[in-house]
Amino acid sequence: MSKTEIKCLSVDELKQALVEMGEKPFRAKPIFKWLHTPVSSFDEMTDQSKALRERLAERFELTVPHVERKQQSKIDGTIKYLWRMREGDCVESVLMRYEHGNTICVSTQVGCRMGCKFCASGLLGLKRNLSAGEILDQVLFAEKDSGLKISNIVLMGTGEPLDNYENVLKFLHLVSCPEGIQIGQRHISLSTSGLADKIEALAGEKLQITLSISLHAPDNESRGQIMPVNRSYPIERLMQACRHYFDVTGRRISYEYAMSRGISDRPWQAEKLAALLRGRPCHVNLIPLNPVKESPIQPSTREAVRRFQQILEKNGVTATVRRRLGPDIDAACGQLRRRTLEEGDRQ
Ligand code: SAH
Ligand code: SF4
Repeated sequence: MSKTEIKCLSVDELKQALVEMGEKPFRAKPIFKWLHTPVSSFDEMTDQSKALRERLAERFELTVPHVERKQQSKIDGTIKYLWRMREGDCVESVLMRYEHGNTICVSTQVGCRMGCKFCASGLLGLKRNLSAGEILDQVLFAEKDSGLKISNIVLMGTGEPLDNYENVLKFLHLVSCPEGIQIGQRHISLSTSGLADKIEALAGEKLQITLSISLHAPDNESRGQIMPVNRSYPIERLMQACRHYFDVTGRRISYEYAMSRGISDRPWQAEKLAALLRGRPCHVNLIPLNPVKESPIQPSTREAVRRFQQILEKNGVTATVRRRLGPDIDAACGQLRRRTLEEGDRQ
């Protein structure tokens, strides 16, 4: 039988587990605090007795990711990590340095099954979900390795967060709870390719996080071409879920729009996007598509991006053209893992 991953437990769950072991419940809080630091073994919990540390090690698994690869941008200091997790699985995180604080982009799955045509993460499908503890580990160990304090988290690495709903929700509670590292939910963004029923479920959790929708095209025909998820949840259904999310949480939604040449960057599509979003409190991020070697989809020209933005603004929709961080490293989602797999290192 596999051991329980101790980092996935809340303070109350840990308390209960300790009581079941015949230990005192008050030990839960200090142990929980240790678990939210980058410890590599129970023996580092020096304020706990050796006997208890041994009992914990027998009963629980303590996950420890290892830095498999690391790249740092000479241009803006962005650091990209490739972690080796349990079972030799590799996942990526990207640590970005902004004036308003350091932001980490974490992965939520090993691979992804959504199959978006422009994305390196989805090329090999889904291997497995990450646990709540393994998502948290990326934050803890990136802080340890870089010596930087992380103040913001985006769930925009490899994986579809809402396809790993329970573990992601658990992670959101763990990382923001008062006994842990306390990154406030207002400093966390979750990006989804548009699983409408899960967006509605998430609304019911009443979290303070920012929801980001990877829209990338405003009409079913173009979106269906590049995002197979659009066949299960077409745009009308997705927008209905977004409206529900805003009505319940009052949180403004961000829309990601990666501009693909000749697929999603035509002027009529800017008009259509503006019509779709009219009257909704929202923000659009226009991203020049990062070309992926295995995909024929090309980024839009700078001119097309500018024209698209102008049409949106003219129609009252605010849109920012996001600059690419770490342009000299493999910063696009999934590219570093993909390259490492290609070289036959892992898996
Ligand atoms: N699965 C989630 C979150 C991870 S992907 C989602 O799809 O939203 C994070 C973001 O990167 C998404 O907006 C995704 O569409 C975008 N993305 C993936 N590949 C890209 C590429 N080659 N160029 C630009 N953006 C890309
Ligand atoms: Fe998965 Fe997001 Fe990549 Fe689509 S863009 S394949 S949902 S990680």
